[in-house]
Amino acid sequence: MEMKNIVVIGPPGAGKGTQSERISERLGVPHISTGDMLREHRDLKTEHGKAREYMERGDLVPDKIMYRILDHRLKKDDTEKGFVLDGFPRDISQAKHLECIEKIDIVISLEVEKKNILKRLTGRRICENCGETFHLNYKPPEKEGVCTKCGSDLLQREDDKKEVIKQRLKKYREKKLPIKNFYEKKGVLRKVDGNKDIESVWNEISVILEEFIK
Ligand code: ADP
Ligand code: AMP
Repeated sequence: MEMKNIVVIGPPGAGKGTQSERISERLGVPHISTGDMLREHRDLKTEHGKAREYMERGDLVPDKIMYRILDHRLKKDDTEKGFVLDGFPRDISQAKHLECIEKIDIVISLEVEKKNILKRLTGRRICENCGETFHLNYKPPEKEGVCTKCGSDLLQREDDKKEVIKQRLKKYREKKLPIKNFYEKKGVLRKVDGNKDIESVWNEISVILEEFIK
């Protein structure tokens, strides 16, 4: 069976998680978010747990930890038909690592202006239980502070506070061009205008997916 391996890249808050969920549903492949995986392990006293200090500062977690988490996840049976990867690669060495273990079919780059990024990050709220993402203005829950999906409390991510956002965006800017060039040269990069509302961005991505799976 033909595999569908998709990577979604873009700045923090671009909408990678939001759109990856939809891609995952549309293609029937798992959504793999390295940020989500790290947050799940954050409180454990394992090597993954050590990632916490890097995340709290807005720095990238060391490659050694990331590769272990990613390689382990990609070996699971549910990736047989493919996957949609969100949050990896973050730099060129990670892109090269990924290339050694998987063939990537499409890289969707969500292009979002800085002013929109800041509004999205500061208004983001996530469910402490199921991880569903909301936004105070752009995707509000039915009841304030409560997850529409499972009824648990909504929280602001620690790293969505202003000082940490600054550092995360700095790290992103330092690394973004080489990754884009890397995938552009391979002919798999597809740029999408991520400034529009969630539905419009999804419509643009759907067109790319339909071309790809037809
Ligand atoms: P990322 O995974 O790239 O960090 P998210 O998918 O978590 O980004 O989106 C960041 C925040 O912006 C969330 O609160 C989400 O609900 C909201 N959001 C996502 N896409 C859009 C969009 N196109 N327009 C407005 N808000 C959006
Ligand atoms: P995200 O949920 O994608 O915004 O990621 C949250 C944080 O997790 C980042 O700021 C990094 O500290 C860490 N992280 C996620 N993915 C990676 C990665 N591929 N490499 C290094 N650090 C990562």
